[in-house]
Amino acid sequence: MKNPDNKIVIIGAGLAGLFTAIKLAPLHVELITSKSLGSGTSSQWAQAGIAAAMGKDDSTISHLKDTITVGGGIVDEKIAELVIKNGPDRVRDLITLGVTFDKNDQNELILRKEAAHQHNRIVSVRGDMTGKEIMETLTSVVKKSKHINVIEGYNAIELHQSNNKIFGVTIQNDNNQKFLETSCIVLATGGVGQLFKVTTNSQEALGDGVGMAARCGAVLSDMEFVQFHPTAFDIGLDPAPLATEALRGEGAKIINNNDDRFTFKYHEAGELAPRDIVSRAIFNEQKNGNKVYLDCRGNLGSKMKDDFPTVYDLCIKNNINPVTDPIPISPAAHYHMGGISCDEYGKSSVEGLYVCGENACSGIHGANRLASNSLLEAIVFADIISCHIKADSINSEIVNNNYTPPSVKKLDLSDLNKLRDIMTKYVGVEREQKGLEEAYRLVKEIYLKYNRDGYKNNTLITALLIIKSAINRTEHRGSHYRIDYPNKNDKLTKRSRIKFEELEL
Ligand SMILES: Cc1cc2nc3c(=O)[nH]c(=O)nc-3n(C[C@H](O)[C@H](O)[C@H](O)COP(=O)(O)OP(=O)(O)OC[C@H]3O[C@@H](n4cnc5c(N)ncnc54)[C@H](O)[C@@H]3O)c2cc1C
Repeated sequence: MKNPDNKIVIIGAGLAGLFTAIKLAPLHVELITSKSLGSGTSSQWAQAGIAAAMGKDDSTISHLKDTITVGGGIVDEKIAELVIKNGPDRVRDLITLGVTFDKNDQNELILRKEAAHQHNRIVSVRGDMTGKEIMETLTSVVKKSKHINVIEGYNAIELHQSNNKIFGVTIQNDNNQKFLETSCIVLATGGVGQLFKVTTNSQEALGDGVGMAARCGAVLSDMEFVQFHPTAFDIGLDPAPLATEALRGEGAKIINNNDDRFTFKYHEAGELAPRDIVSRAIFNEQKNGNKVYLDCRGNLGSKMKDDFPTVYDLCIKNNINPVTDPIPISPAAHYHMGGISCDEYGKSSVEGLYVCGENACSGIHGANRLASNSLLEAIVFADIISCHIKADSINSEIVNNNYTPPSVKKLDLSDLNKLRDIMTKYVGVEREQKGLEEAYRLVKEIYLKYNRDGYKNNTLITALLIIKSAINRTEHRGSHYRIDYPNKNDKLTKRSRIKFEELEL
């Protein structure tokens, strides 16, 4: 049977999902999101902006070089070049759709600098409001677009394939389960931050898209690489709000409760050392029983209202006066470099399953992500995928309709909290063999409990894939730090890959 209504299903309504949906016009799109449109995404919290080589003195080569340097030797250079080359055009697309990136008096884009970028190349909105502005703009475009039908409040729980070809997806809410028949799915379910106790990611970032794709047979890559941001607010909020890196660029210091600027013990650049080093420094300080703070007191604190309005508002709402009070901080799970493996068209190893945004692993980030390259990857692949679907996939046959209703259950709150404790203790900023094996045993125990009751759980599968990949990588590379293997091992200079079967559940 040919796909009768040319229906394409997009799962997830962050930047990756929305931009793909808009770009697919005039083809009909069903857009599924677990929350209401415009909420429940990490995209809306993005602060700094999008990296794009648009400056007069900048170039694709320079941006590529910075991306490769940060990526720990395993960046896919062809993919990185593809993304970086297309970035400026996609930023112009966003401007055409109505995003008002900051401009100077000559009406030129203001390009800001971030850590590890050799040039000013970050486009942003009012300093730290980039994600909010982009998501509000795209949400309103989607609402007006006749080719997009939005299905809100439903979780995708199962991708169906036959002979490695997609034929549909099951979605469910608290009362209802539905099957959508399609030969073409774009999975854009975001990151995995909520697998950890402290995270900057939205509460929907449970990694269930990755686990669901794994169960459907997709190959996963680089699952062990999770980036921890060193300076999230440690004030009991979930997600933990981010104190943007730019604050340290402007002179904010990191201190402990004894007023010690301890990061210099770990790296000569102190607070401005690479993210993973600063995260480990803070983690060790906390392990020794100390509290850690971002100190913006004085001049910087008084400039924050105008220059960093998001962070300033957060301080005020939480009774912190940044002029006089240091801000309590902690490292937080922030970005997953790994995910569902894809090629230069965003295609996974399952026919008809495209992946876009943080749940995808195209290879641009390698073992560590260059700041502001993730929104860039999402917009570039959204365009590539939509062009490819229009040219190639839309008339593909629906091969089978051998539908069996799935039994998939969300994690109970107590099990989710248990999982987050395990992942933070054993699979966080620092890892070692014994702890990783213990984590695998404990998470598998929870998984088997659900299994015995007749349920699958996608989040637990993702956690197990991360742990197994971390066990397999016996070295320190990028964001993956092994206390028992603290050096890089040249023999392991390659991307990792894993499949569901390797979990031997
Ligand atoms: C605080 C913060 C600041 C950041 N700042 C920057 C920055 O300045 N620059 C940059 O490049 N990157 C930044 N990042 C990273 C970047 O924001 C994310 O990588 C990116 O927004 C991910 O977009 P996405 O569309 O893939 O996922 P998301 O925006 O997280 O969207 C995922 C969507 O999938 C839905 N969903 C999830 N599971 C299911 C399911 N099973 N069924 C149905 N729907 C589902 C969610 O509800 C949501 O709609 C930041 C991240 C955070 C958290």
